[in-house]
Amino acid sequence: MRLLFLGTGASQGYPALFCACDNCDAARSRGGKSLRRRSALLIDDDLLIDFGPDLFAATLAHRLALHRVRYLLLTHGHGDHLLPKNFDYRRAQWAQQDLPTMEVYGSEPTLRPLQALEWSPAELRVELRPVEPGQTWQMGPYRVTALPAHHALGQQALTYVVEGDGAAVLYATDTGAFPAHAWAGLQRLAARGARLDASVIEATMGVRPLPPDAGHMNFARCVEHHQQLRERGVASERCLQLATHFAPGCRQWADRAHPDEPYGAPPHEETSALLAPHGVQPAYDGLELRLGPTAR
Ligand SMILES: [Zn+2]
Ligand SMILES: [Zn+2]
Repeated sequence: MRLLFLGTGASQGYPALFCACDNCDAARSRGGKSLRRRSALLIDDDLLIDFGPDLFAATLAHRLALHRVRYLLLTHGHGDHLLPKNFDYRRAQWAQQDLPTMEVYGSEPTLRPLQALEWSPAELRVELRPVEPGQTWQMGPYRVTALPAHHALGQQALTYVVEGDGAAVLYATDTGAFPAHAWAGLQRLAARGARLDASVIEATMGVRPLPPDAGHMNFARCVEHHQQLRERGVASERCLQLATHFAPGCRQWADRAHPDEPYGAPPHEETSALLAPHGVQPAYDGLELRLGPTAR
């Protein structure tokens, strides 16, 4: 199984369009791994997770054609993860060759607005397939399990475990602390032998302190979740522990009572230095990983 990170930034991207804070300016001047598109992941060349506004930019950066994508998993409908206009370009007038039907999975509230698109599913060559948290299904060579997230509660955001090619990966962006049902689902997977080879968990808020019920994680909570995955036997001993969905932060996110406290995720090198002692590595745009028995 091959993973290609198409984006590893939060809603505003990194650096943010109109922001000149220290983090955003440092990213602009350094470039490289500190520049982050909005989050998305490509697995092999036929499974895409999320469909946000930077998908086109990612295809330019990696000289990618997406015509082989048969499966799209949507975590939720926030604008950094789902740009409905992307569907338009699947119509015959923009995509000249035969496209395989793309099966689109997500929670019912996430998919609902897509039923009202001005183009028909037949024109777009898509099938919408609502799934429930806790549900496991087979799609082509992949077995996928959807788990509940504590984020965008009105639309039931999901995290996913994808199994295929003898490997398993957890992709958990925009989740907040894992709800008890998510842990139960992960432990059911581990009980039938599907232990994670890679876990990708958001660390959106970086060094900022967060209340326990926040809809995002900071570095400490991301590290703690990776640790729990190991302790509960959900992750294999050699599991790659990754962080993603980084926000540079902004002053209004800082604790208003302590406006000078640090906030946000610093640029890549500092983020890497903060996470490395815990065995967690920050993903970056263009990071490519191979998992499973065929991995090098
Ligand atoms: Zn997001
Ligand atoms: Zn979100």
